[in-house]
Amino acid sequence: MFSIRRDLLQAPLFPASAERVRAFTTSLDELAGRVQAAEAARSSWRGPGDARDARAQLDAVSRARAQLPPLRRLVEELHAQAQSLARDKIQLPDHVLARLDELNTRVSALCAGGEERARQLAGVARDGGAGAAQGFLAGSVEPPWERAVTPANVPYYINHELETTHWDHPKMIELMASLADLNEVRFSAYRTALKLRSVQKALCMHLLQLPAALEAFDSHGLRAQNDRLIDIPDMITVLTSLYEVGKPSPFSGDYLGLQLSIDFCKGTFESSPQHGCPSVIAAENPSVVNVPLCLDLSINWLLNVYDSQRTGQIRVLSFKVGLVLLCKGHLEEKYRYLFRLIADPSCRADQRKLGLLLHDCIQVPRQLGEVAAFGGSNIEPSVRSCFEQASASTGKDSKTATLDRKSDKSEKDETKDKTLERDADGQLQYIEAFHFLQWLQKEPQSMVWLPVLHRLAAAETAKHQAKCNICKEYPIIGFRYRCLKCFNFDMCQKCFFSGRKAKNHKLTHPMQEYCTATTSGEDVRDFTRALRNKFKSARYFKKHPRVGYLPVQTVLEGR
Ligand SMILES: [Zn+2]
Ligand SMILES: [Zn+2]
Repeated sequence: MFSIRRDLLQAPLFPASAERVRAFTTSLDELAGRVQAAEAARSSWRGPGDARDARAQLDAVSRARAQLPPLRRLVEELHAQAQSLARDKIQLPDHVLARLDELNTRVSALCAGGEERARQLAGVARDGGAGAAQGFLAGSVEPPWERAVTPANVPYYINHELETTHWDHPKMIELMASLADLNEVRFSAYRTALKLRSVQKALCMHLLQLPAALEAFDSHGLRAQNDRLIDIPDMITVLTSLYEVGKPSPFSGDYLGLQLSIDFCKGTFESSPQHGCPSVIAAENPSVVNVPLCLDLSINWLLNVYDSQRTGQIRVLSFKVGLVLLCKGHLEEKYRYLFRLIADPSCRADQRKLGLLLHDCIQVPRQLGEVAAFGGSNIEPSVRSCFEQASASTGKDSKTATLDRKSDKSEKDETKDKTLERDADGQLQYIEAFHFLQWLQKEPQSMVWLPVLHRLAAAETAKHQAKCNICKEYPIIGFRYRCLKCFNFDMCQKCFFSGRKAKNHKLTHPMQEYCTATTSGEDVRDFTRALRNKFKSARYFKKHPRVGYLPVQTVLEGR
């Protein structure tokens, strides 16, 4: 008689809970907007000129800091709400919780930044701030420049002739100005990669071998410390061991236990004769590396990317990611290492961890003013894209999952899949390195600049026995582009990047890119392709564009 219909009992709960979730996300959006505004105001900070300038700036900073406690309270309130929702068994989606976490971190950074900034300015207001510390790095600049450090050990640079101070090293200022020349490159991924290649070379990071960097992290006790903060003196210590002449350490090639499963062969940097035996940069390249300068520029770059507020500390994770992205190494090894940074002891990563990693990666194009082309600084769509693809590829009829999994391993993998938990929507709760690599192989929008950087580096020394049909360069050096529709039509990278047209060749034609000199096999293949494409219409190419990246849905920032 009294059979209770549970659905009827619970029904009234649903509208109420939906209302509460909606209220929660609205508050979250408001918080995001305010945090972004505070960050924007903060990014206009500059190095203090002199004591009087410092005092004036100190006033502005006090006003800015007064706005932070309300933000802090809003974060706390949202945390409390989330807890109360959880108590009532109302599950907020993971990405919403991850967003709250992220905003919490940003508010903390704003508070810490404001505090540090006030202390710094107070120091400069008191004694003019000029102090030569970090010993040998004083030699990274020449008169009229002087290198000085704040009480938080943050370097800054004084130009005594112009009586100005700057957070940026004079060479960094020059470097950044020179990158503007690359703005004529039409394709954002190539433009960003070209800029990054210039940065990489100025910092001599292109000479730093990935295994050497990893070894330095470990030998300085940074293993499994990714959530900790590292200050500038410690960063200098690690970097010094990489740049300075020291004794090379023995190293075995299977350091990472690498098993190359996805073919990233196009993504290697020029192979080094000393592969498998990394040593310090300066020891291998004594004539090209000015150690204090490169080291100082590296610190400058890392701070610009990860500590624009100059708190004097960055996360160990950011430090590692920043160096790994720019060093010399195999692309897949980099990807695998990046994943290891966020993997738990059972080698899996959840959405929050992936978000942290992608956030640190995307700061690089952001620093180059290129973030918009890669989906903006919001990494949530990328995280979702990766997890969705992983969930789809490990589904029951996972035909696409054969990409990497050798048939002899399939049995083991199947049992492993079962241990990957899914949420109510069938989404994986965790991903493994395999999923991460599979996603990156599609060159997702937020990360595409990295494989392009690797291809660019590989192409740099390539000489192709072909003539550019536009500028007549012969041989073509760098990337060579061959039209798959016109017969025998080649372009050099300069002409291709600037979008130059020829009589019959159109910008809509499909192009094949070569970063190394073509083999005769490729020549034959392209010839047949050109033959086939000859009979396809322009509409075909519009309908089947050669997408260079995996588009992810972008969300307007700061809502
Ligand atoms: Zn040309
Ligand atoms: Zn063509």
